[in-house]
Amino acid sequence: MKSREVLFLPGDGIGPEVSNEARKVLEYLNDAQDLGINISQSVVGGCAYEEFGKPLPEATLEAAKKSDAILLGAVGGPAWDNLQYDLRPERALLGLRSELDLFANLRPAILSKYLSDSSSLKSEKVLDLDLLIIRELTGGIYFGEPRGTSDSNQSAFNTMVYSRDEIERIGRVAFEAAQKRNKHLCSVDKANVLEVSVLWREVISKLASEYPDVHLSHMLVDNAAMQLVREPKQFDVIVTGNLFGDILSDIAAMLTGSIGMLPSASLNSKNQGLYEPVHGSAPDISGKGLANPIAAILSVAMMLKYSFSLNKASSAIENAIQEVLSEGYITHDLEGDDNKKLSTSDMGNKIIEKLI
Ligand code: NAD
Repeated sequence: MKSREVLFLPGDGIGPEVSNEARKVLEYLNDAQDLGINISQSVVGGCAYEEFGKPLPEATLEAAKKSDAILLGAVGGPAWDNLQYDLRPERALLGLRSELDLFANLRPAILSKYLSDSSSLKSEKVLDLDLLIIRELTGGIYFGEPRGTSDSNQSAFNTMVYSRDEIERIGRVAFEAAQKRNKHLCSVDKANVLEVSVLWREVISKLASEYPDVHLSHMLVDNAAMQLVREPKQFDVIVTGNLFGDILSDIAAMLTGSIGMLPSASLNSKNQGLYEPVHGSAPDISGKGLANPIAAILSVAMMLKYSFSLNKASSAIENAIQEVLSEGYITHDLEGDDNKKLSTSDMGNKIIEKLI
């Protein structure tokens, strides 16, 4: 069997705490189910700056390129907030995304029925919510040229640009994801105002003929933002560009109650992936055992599914988490019985107990 190479990048703040629990879960399953996964570890973010003077050292980037999948904890923190832009920990994420061409960002927003009281919406609006936002990650206005500030600093400008190829490749990821789910795909754009969105809509519509089993709809981004908080369960898969996806995925995140529950995957065309919790390094709770490790553990479940097609092992993790929540066990960020609040490592251990 070909070995599967996984690189752990714990990072800063609560990153090492939550990724340690994710690693324990992966190591348990690897041994129990003989998954053939080989785990290595490297430094990224603020801790890499301290050791090597840069947030993404060459050795880390080389190790990332050689791996099949990367699990990243989180990067950043107040100690590095005043560094020049290129040295800031968050630059490491942009470096990894562009060097590995991780153009497809998948962010599921799933609300466990045991946590519907934690959502900002009424529980009947979000009960059994299960949607997937697919955001184009390496193009659009965040990267378009020209960009800059006029000489007199009286104006500034950015360029929103997408090529047919860029739209087509993210479109294919979205149609294929919809095929594996409830076969509804909603493409979000601003085609009433932006030429780039007119092209986006044309390319996505043309692709639809290759996926006749998927029902495609289009929605303007302002309406999509409203619909996400009005009737979020109408969505199955949403596909959109970099800027719109950035905003919509954060709205969707809040529907699920805690940012500590949400995993993400960023994939390239070879299914090489960077998997990470949506949250940051949470300096306010770091080192106290208060962090919720579930987003990091669910990121491992996504890795098993998307990079290794190990769907059974992936579902085993999801089921174990549901079982723990069904018994009322929670972490400090979630609403529930104070007597059942577990520390970061106790939550990791409880999830492993359910896997045994
Ligand atoms: P954050 O996500 O770190 O924290 C926001 C709030 O959510 C905090 O109150 C925090 O305690 C809470 N929280 C986050 N994750 C949690 C978890 N697993 N369990 C329980 N509570 C959790 O966002 P922030 O405070 O804006 O950013 C802190 C640092 O993280 C900054 O340096 C920022 O640049 C960085 N950041 C990194 C990433 C990343 O590595 N992908 C993402 C976002 C922010």
